Amino acid sequence: MDDKARPLPTPTSVSRRYWDSVNAEALTIPRCRDCGAVHFYPHALCVSCMSPNLDYIPVSGNGTVYTYTVIRSPQPAFRGMEPYVVANVELDEGVRMMANVITDDPDSVGIGTRVRLVYQPVTPDQKMPQFEKA
Ligand SMILES: [Zn+2]
Repeated sequence: MDDKARPLPTPTSVSRRYWDSVNAEALTIPRCRDCGAVHFYPHALCVSCMSPNLDYIPVSGNGTVYTYTVIRSPQPAFRGMEPYVVANVELDEGVRMMANVITDDPDSVGIGTRVRLVYQPVTPDQKMPQFEKA
C-alpha cells in the first residue's frame, strides 16, 4: 500500500452490513437477540454470550467524548489534515467507537464534549463515520 494513500475499509462478511449502513448514512450496530448486549465493532458472535443471533440496530448518532488526542504530526496518509482530533466517543447506546471529531478548533474538544455523528465522504463510494460538536 502506498503510505500516502488514505487507508480505506475492506468490508468482510462480518463488517459489510456495518459499512453498508455507514454509506447509507444510517449507522447500525450489532445487538444480541439472546442477551440484549449491544457492541461495537461488528463481530460474528455476541461478545457477551457468544450467540450468533445478532440484529443490527440504528443508533441515535449522539455521543460524548470519552477520551481524545489532537494529532499535530500525522502519518503520511493524513498529512495536510493536521491538527485534527481523534476521539474515543461513547455513543448514547453505550458502545465506544474511534473516529475524528471534525472541527476548526481542536482545542475546543475535551473529555465530556457532546458530539453528533456525521458521514464524511472519503471516496465517491465510501463514507466514514465521524463526529462534530453537538
Ligand atoms: Zn449475547
